[in-house]
Amino acid sequence: MRSRLSAGPSLCRPLVLIIAVLAAPACVAGASSPPAVAAVDAARAADAGQEPGNWLLHGRTYDEQRYSPLSQIDRGNVARLGLGWEYRLDSLRGIEATPIVVDGVMYTTGTWSRVYALDAASGALLWQYDPHVPRKWGRKLCCDIVNRGVAVWAGRIYVGTLDGRLVAIDAATGERAWEVDTLVDRSLPYSITGAPRIVKGRVVIGNGGAEYGVRGYVSAYDATTGEWAWRFFTVPGAPGAPLESVELEKAQATWDPRRDPANGGGGTVWDSLAYDPALDLLYVGTGNGGPWARHKRSPAGGDNLYLASIVALDPDSGRMVWYYQTTPGDNWDFTATQHMILADIEIGGEIRKVLMQAPKNGFFYVLDRTDGTLISAEKFVYVNWASRVDAVTGRPLETGLGDYKDQARYVFPSPAGAHDWQPMSFSPRTGLVYIPAREIGWVFNDGDDYWFTYGVRDLQPLIGEQPVPATAGYVKAWDPVAQRPVWEMRLPNVWNGGTLATAGDLVFFGTATGQLYAVDAASGRILKTIEIGTGIIAAPVSYLAGGKQYVAVMAGWGGPAFNTMQGDEAALRYLNTGRALAFRLDGGEVPLPPPVPPRGEFPEPPVLEATSEQVERGRKLYVGHCGACHGMYGSTPLLPDLRRLTPAKHALFEAIVYAGMLEGNGMAGFSDLLSRDDVRAVHAYVVQLQREARAQRAGAD
Ligand code: CA
Repeated sequence: MRSRLSAGPSLCRPLVLIIAVLAAPACVAGASSPPAVAAVDAARAADAGQEPGNWLLHGRTYDEQRYSPLSQIDRGNVARLGLGWEYRLDSLRGIEATPIVVDGVMYTTGTWSRVYALDAASGALLWQYDPHVPRKWGRKLCCDIVNRGVAVWAGRIYVGTLDGRLVAIDAATGERAWEVDTLVDRSLPYSITGAPRIVKGRVVIGNGGAEYGVRGYVSAYDATTGEWAWRFFTVPGAPGAPLESVELEKAQATWDPRRDPANGGGGTVWDSLAYDPALDLLYVGTGNGGPWARHKRSPAGGDNLYLASIVALDPDSGRMVWYYQTTPGDNWDFTATQHMILADIEIGGEIRKVLMQAPKNGFFYVLDRTDGTLISAEKFVYVNWASRVDAVTGRPLETGLGDYKDQARYVFPSPAGAHDWQPMSFSPRTGLVYIPAREIGWVFNDGDDYWFTYGVRDLQPLIGEQPVPATAGYVKAWDPVAQRPVWEMRLPNVWNGGTLATAGDLVFFGTATGQLYAVDAASGRILKTIEIGTGIIAAPVSYLAGGKQYVAVMAGWGGPAFNTMQGDEAALRYLNTGRALAFRLDGGEVPLPPPVPPRGEFPEPPVLEATSEQVERGRKLYVGHCGACHGMYGSTPLLPDLRRLTPAKHALFEAIVYAGMLEGNGMAGFSDLLSRDDVRAVHAYVVQLQREARAQRAGAD
């Protein structure tokens, strides 16, 4: 590792940090310290685009274009792409990280916020850091035990943990340097899954939990010391509570003053951040309202600022400079936390400094990033909740087909979004944005089972006159100037990976069904398909190691409500083994993970004495606490299928679910969330599910 790092030209930059200067033997005569690792500073970060061989920042550059200027692999030779190396993680759940590559070392993350440093040329493990997230933190999560990656700065690696800590790790040793608690209240179900960004020596980090009623915010900490610098709350606190900023005074007027003070309102900053060093603006995407239904969240109405918004902050103070709300009065989990790309593009004969986002709500937005003015917004998939975005007011015109206060509605897009966190990419060579999109609806109703409504079979009455659209995944090459697709590729599953654009005029992406594709950036023509055997939801990156171009991607399927996603069966052929994979020209075959063992029959469940009321209570508890991991409404889960419990496991049900007997496997006990009586009701419902599955199987035979 060390010898390979000694020749990096970046080490001769005028680094302000003593550690890096001392550690650069080519610059400091006679210095005997080992070469600096992870030597990223403000100048190097701002010029990350000038280092084609590295992937220094989350989106490669602060503008988050995810465009690699490497062109060794191109349209003419990509057919020769094969596996350079793989590193297997100890996981069977979702893997969402974007690896960071600095001077031959890859820093990436897996489940439970674990961090890995790998040799970028060989995949050899240099060190691993486990923040030991309490397993009980895995129970109140919308979206799996995932992490989207680290940030690197001045010899340290930074990760936000599932339980809300920000940890700085020594990049050379893998030892913890410092750790802070970013949560304003540890009793609330906050989480961190997003990657930190480092701007002007400060680590910026948000969190998740809007589904569970937390209040959103983003914070900044000094990268050297961990000292807290500022915090921007995205929504006002409980009615009557003091407001932390003048921005919140404006926001306060858009919320019902008599709303339920127990609800934090949502607006969590759980993924996207971008930075423009020239304008010195930090862009923050904010999340959905909590609860989703606006008539419950803010019964008197209002836009509920700053939910579902893009907010520009001064990175020194955390004060707001401008905002643009994509979905006023969000009613559908339409977060604006999706990836933001900054670019300077010609529109109407003028070079405009734009910010582009394809949030969940189905419109592709092009904003002027100097002041937040809307330039254009058009639908990039089928959308029925709004007809268009008004060019003057910047507001969507709702159709009423998304209003579910008085009747259930089948709304497009779904809470999985027309596009979710899976990163897009932008090629300055084609001028196109490559969007991992999906066309999928969701039944919203006003009941207490509003989270998952896949039980509904007859959708036509819930959608009005138009035909019920088919569900499909896409990669769309989007022209942001003309606001139309140039090409699109339809995929069998809706929940696929992010995209990477390269100067080889290629676009790379993985799929739920376990393929890595390389397609022609201009035409979408498939030039190479590699069978991975593991579903991919993360986005690839590209870098140089030993003078060779690599395309690397994290594999491992999962994410939000992953066991209720329609069409997930195809991803279940092989064990969902988490792995880092790096490809190069003339590489080898990808070894497939072991096939999924036969699922077998549904065993005979025990006889349980339970009333129909108890079973119904158990169903509601199951949907709220169990279904996101163990499946519901007939879906086949990746985690244990409770319809296949053996008599031995049934006998241990209370010991496992209440007392936490299997905490070592990631299944923490629920004794602090459910009573023993609750657990018995859940068990009664599980037994009923198992009986129904047996009856259905018998009927099919
Ligand atoms: Ca959400």
